[in-house]
Amino acid sequence: MPLDDAATLVDGMLPTLRDRAAEVDRAAAFPEDNLNLLRENGLLGLLVPADYGGLGGGLADLTDLAQRLAGACLSTGMIWAMHCQQVDSLVRHAAPELKDHVLPRVARGELYLASVTTEPGKGGHLLTGGAPLRAAEGSLLLDRDAPIVTGGAQADGFLITMRSAEEAADREVSLVYADRDQLDIVPQEGWHTLGMRGTSSGGLKLSGRVPPGNVVGEPGNFRHVAMESMAPVGHLAWAACWLGTAHSALRGVLDLIRSRNRPRGLDPSSDLVRERLARVRMDLELVSAYLHRVRQEVDDHRAAGTSVGGPSTQVHLNTLKVAAAEHTFAAVHKLVQLCGLFSAYRTDAAIPLERHFRDLRSASLNYADDRLLTANGALSLLDRTARLA
Ligand SMILES: Cc1cc2nc3c(=O)[nH]c(=O)nc-3n(C[C@H](O)[C@H](O)[C@H](O)COP(=O)(O)OP(=O)(O)OC[C@H]3O[C@@H](n4cnc5c(N)ncnc54)[C@H](O)[C@@H]3O)c2cc1C
Repeated sequence: MPLDDAATLVDGMLPTLRDRAAEVDRAAAFPEDNLNLLRENGLLGLLVPADYGGLGGGLADLTDLAQRLAGACLSTGMIWAMHCQQVDSLVRHAAPELKDHVLPRVARGELYLASVTTEPGKGGHLLTGGAPLRAAEGSLLLDRDAPIVTGGAQADGFLITMRSAEEAADREVSLVYADRDQLDIVPQEGWHTLGMRGTSSGGLKLSGRVPPGNVVGEPGNFRHVAMESMAPVGHLAWAACWLGTAHSALRGVLDLIRSRNRPRGLDPSSDLVRERLARVRMDLELVSAYLHRVRQEVDDHRAAGTSVGGPSTQVHLNTLKVAAAEHTFAAVHKLVQLCGLFSAYRTDAAIPLERHFRDLRSASLNYADDRLLTANGALSLLDRTARLA
């Protein structure tokens, strides 16, 4: 499938995803059928270069398709977007031999990638590691508690952060790739959450042995992979997913207000209704514009071969994540208030606003906003240009 057809292909899947979304949420069931659709249609390979058989897409394609998918089912959108985030790390930082081993399988839809960064003791802090890699007979041994792994039961491969060696400091972190069959995987805690229930992000205990060539990027320097790839692509992809969900909620409410059988409270001539709609629209306009702007900034750096690690760009990327989390949740919160008990608060309402509300509540926790805001305060003091996006 040519890249130009990807949006049409995704749009064709949306009614199916939308139909399944309520059951995925109710049963907290990983949307395996949706993942299979993405596998079969080559979409796991969106960011895989054409030389490896992928679609050769870029960040604009990722944010566009993530919005579309998440408008139908946020769990499916996030599962796919976070897989693409892992692919970007491999494409940009893995050694040629590892790319040859992994990327063609991703492109063929055989390899769905999960991410293991969260760890007991350090919580969400991305750039530190507890469990160490151990060298043994030319291999690397890993033994790792992973309390939150989206799609851990379904993933065919894992990117795992580990302290780089037993004697290494906790900031010397390596990113390691492991095929599923290189690991013993023992399920731990389940995933009993308010929202994002379909991501099945329960805990795992992972142990196994991988070749040294499976370290992605320089050993001990995960910081570089995180700064250039995992964090920027994560923030862009998450923001796109959250925006897609909130946008679909707004469109649903607008359709309801325009329809003949609208509830009496949703009178289109009411100033209160109009003011509330305007505020929701403003939330989403701001996120959409900022998403486009920051995505362009990252693309410009990539095209020029320069780092996105400068303080201004880092502030912009962190601001995008926090602003998208806050404004998309606020938008749906306002839509619940506007639509009221019968059209919003009920779990069987025509527009699934209560599900969107529960799902989007996770946005500010999925990499804690507090961590990014404290980082942005410190970066702002460093950033003598104070350059705005
Ligand atoms: C839907 C979903 C899917 C996920 N999927 C994955 C996955 O696939 N793989 C994975 O590894 N992880 C995953 N995570 C976990 C995620 O990446 C974070 O690690 C996790 O959400 C952080 O958990 P926490 O709330 O304990 O926050 P922590 O970051 O551990 O923070 C704990 C508390 O301390 C506060 N805090 C932290 N730092 C500061 C600070 N500097 N100043 C002030 N307060 C601070 C936070 O606000 C928070 O209240 C997922 C999370 C969600 C919601």
